[in-house]
Amino acid sequence: MPYDSNNIFAKILRGEIPCKKIYEDEFALAFHDIHPQAPVHILVIPKGPYISKDDFIATASDEEIAGYERGIGKVLQASGLMSEGYRLISNNGVNGGQEVPHYHVHILGGRELGPMLKQ
Ligand code: 5GP
Repeated sequence: MPYDSNNIFAKILRGEIPCKKIYEDEFALAFHDIHPQAPVHILVIPKGPYISKDDFIATASDEEIAGYERGIGKVLQASGLMSEGYRLISNNGVNGGQEVPHYHVHILGGRELGPMLKQ
């Protein structure tokens, strides 16, 4: 399945729809999730056209992968979540419940998040 350049995060990257931006550099963009599921709910996306984690790892350059991971690190540092803890989630594909086919990581925190999966 090819990358869909009309997905909502591609439109955000092109500036066609707005987002509440938190951080941006050459490799990563971070913004608030439109439907937050915790007091802090941030999305971090790579700038390149990657569908999923496996697509990103297989096809992005080392520079892009390192840059994206460092971007997540900068967002975490700025978030103030470090002392109380936080959770990273990446939904991939149908079983993962991925809604937007542009690779992304959710950063969640601000309260005790409970079990990792619904029981
Ligand atoms: P997924 O299920 O693909 O891991 O999560 C996609 C996330 O994107 C959801 O948490 C959803 O609330 C968020 N989202 C969907 N559309 C928009 C949008 O237009 N703007 C923002 N900021 N977040 C969105």
